Amino acid sequence: MNARPKAAVIGSNMIDLVTLIDRMPKLGETVEAPHFDIGFGGKGANQAVALARLGADVLMVSKVGDDIFGLEVKRNFEENGIDSRYVDVVVGASNGVAPIFVDKEANNSILIIKGANNALSPEDVDRAAEDIKKCNLIILQLEVPLKTVYHAIEFGVKHKIPVILNPAPGAELDFEYVRQADFLVPNETELEIISRMPVGTMDEIVAAARSLVEKGARNVIVTLGAKGSLLVNENEEVHVEPFAVKSTDSTGAGDAFIGSFAYYLLQSGNIVEAMRMANRYAAISTMKPGTQKSFIGMKEFSEVLEGMKS
Ligand code: ADP
Repeated sequence: MNARPKAAVIGSNMIDLVTLIDRMPKLGETVEAPHFDIGFGGKGANQAVALARLGADVLMVSKVGDDIFGLEVKRNFEENGIDSRYVDVVVGASNGVAPIFVDKEANNSILIIKGANNALSPEDVDRAAEDIKKCNLIILQLEVPLKTVYHAIEFGVKHKIPVILNPAPGAELDFEYVRQADFLVPNETELEIISRMPVGTMDEIVAAARSLVEKGARNVIVTLGAKGSLLVNENEEVHVEPFAVKSTDSTGAGDAFIGSFAYYLLQSGNIVEAMRMANRYAAISTMKPGTQKSFIGMKEFSEVLEGMKS
């Protein structure tokens, strides 16, 4: 469709503060932990980075904190070739951070402090309007205020720009807005929250996705972890088989899926084909630790696929 896909990501950024622990301290206790790592995260930023590494032009609309993390996040966008003219500092606010504690059995305990992300407003979308209008796709998640997400959906409709809504983290949504998005892309947990239906079996997942289509959602794409992904719309129901890999860390797999799905959708216009490529890109991201650290560029992606053929 387009030689170089151009997408706007309107959403969050975070700094992941990952501490490996032997055990959680009790109230009032101090314990030493063996390892600490820092990483760039936040669903919006992750999806933008996956898109950019694959070769898309990405416009980011986001808010960073008035602190060293904010400076680093902006620098990270720039290093990844992302247009960050609309990534603004919120005076007096901290950057969004996610202190993550991982024990020896790989169990996670995560705190989210949204910080500056809470300040992303409908006016910020309007301020970037002329540049968003030059994009072929708008990508949204739920780590920024809902009123901004709804405003961005309406902006997309008004200017005939397709919208992907990743309803993550799961929240109850107003279908007056959701039905206007072209793609709704939840994982199984988010599907359960939005549909208020069980998702324990594949039949239940299909029924839950179908219920959203009946409420007006156009294309529901459910990411199914190691089971691949599922498309349900008025005309079809397609289970796209997973790409078999030796998975070691699935953090950020959903963001890898959305970023790469967006890229291939813009390239081919074919939904199922884009899901097939996204299954591959996201699966490969689970073979390496970290979130953005595990998102590879187009050259490496092509080489890995080529190597796996044989
Ligand atoms: P989230 O990270 O939001 O929970 P999922 O776990 O559904 O999202 O993963 C997103 C996508 O990543 C899946 O649809 C699939 O394409 C891919 N994926 C995740 N885990 C695996 C795995 N173990 N093997 C192969 N593909 C995987």
